[in-house]
Amino acid sequence: MKGSLSDMEDLCRSDPLVRTFRELVRFPTQSDDNSKTIPSTDGQLRLGAHLVSLCSSLGFKAEQDDKGVVTVIVPPSAGCESADRLALIAHQDTAPDAPGDGVEPRLVKNYDGGAIELDSGLVTDAKICPNLPSHKGDDIVVTDGVTLLGADDKAGVAVILEILREIAEDPSFRHPEMRAVFSVDEEIGRSADYIDVQKLGCAFGVTVDGGEAGDLDTTTFSAEAATVTVKGRSVHTSSAYKTMVNACEIAARFMQLLPPDEKPENTQGKEGFFHVHNLEASVSQAKISMIIRDFDGEKLKDRVAQLDLIASLLNREIGYESVSVGHHHQYSNMGEVLVKHPEVLSRCRRAYEAAGIAVRECAVRGGTDGSNLSWRGLPCPNFFTGSLCMHGPYECLPVKSLHLCHDAVRALVEICADSRS
Ligand SMILES: [Zn+2]
Repeated sequence: MKGSLSDMEDLCRSDPLVRTFRELVRFPTQSDDNSKTIPSTDGQLRLGAHLVSLCSSLGFKAEQDDKGVVTVIVPPSAGCESADRLALIAHQDTAPDAPGDGVEPRLVKNYDGGAIELDSGLVTDAKICPNLPSHKGDDIVVTDGVTLLGADDKAGVAVILEILREIAEDPSFRHPEMRAVFSVDEEIGRSADYIDVQKLGCAFGVTVDGGEAGDLDTTTFSAEAATVTVKGRSVHTSSAYKTMVNACEIAARFMQLLPPDEKPENTQGKEGFFHVHNLEASVSQAKISMIIRDFDGEKLKDRVAQLDLIASLLNREIGYESVSVGHHHQYSNMGEVLVKHPEVLSRCRRAYEAAGIAVRECAVRGGTDGSNLSWRGLPCPNFFTGSLCMHGPYECLPVKSLHLCHDAVRALVEICADSRS
């Protein structure tokens, strides 16, 4: 099957949520890890300004701060003044992994469950995107096969905007005081740092940034980044006997001493890992860059200790302090915070149920903004957006899933109108 631009056009005429989504993905907002600016790209500032003007035109106070984060203030509806304040969060940037300029979505109507041929000639099927066949019969938004779609996370942004529009237009929509937050640079791991949790003053929040319809992310990895530095002793090969210490060899030994079963390619489910993602080495020095992941904070500490142990073993062998390990904490498992806030998860579960969605609580083998925000005082599970195969040209979005995302977020808002913890 192939996607069609005119079918997409027709759908946008009748479906305001999809229309908003298309408008958002046309803004190029890829983040850039090599950029030193905040936000990392100007496109995010342009989209942010657009969001501010949209929300202001709906009658909300909206502002874009100096980092590009857009915050919208939503006063409570009458009678809901004492309900807990809720934050709805989505990110404006898209992944740097595939081009994000010139995104022009196509629609595959009534998907037959087989392969979808994208305009570039790329083919998406169950091999590339295992969940795709289960969306047989759905209308599916796809890319041209060159750009990414940007449903991660413009589907989340579109849903939150739609809820704001409904609140503005329907005085009978009961809701608590809320903050809508459109963050920046999530894909390069910086966004949570730029969100001022104190200023939001919310009891809890949700990020709308997940995948398959029904997923509710309640657990994430805890994460450390480590750098192993090796100092060699470089001498001419002619006089190397018993003198040269080759940092290349030592770096290789270090990596061999990492447990072979505890690498990303050999782990799944709730298993943690060590992952070497970069290696620079010469005779005189080497640098191993790695990330370490575990769902259990204590086990994560043990893993860091293992690196220290390998370093001291090698140093003893070499006879001087050749190998040193530096590490820093990246984020923590939100699940360890959420267990202390059972009312948050219970409201999320009830919201899915109210929207007619079977809840699938997920442990994410990665982090979400909620991983940091939860530990900084804003318990923050992650709702699905429905997008599939994110971060590349195969990214797609079943229209039904996008609407289910809207229904779940709307149900959460309504449930919170009457909730106080
Ligand atoms: Zn995302």
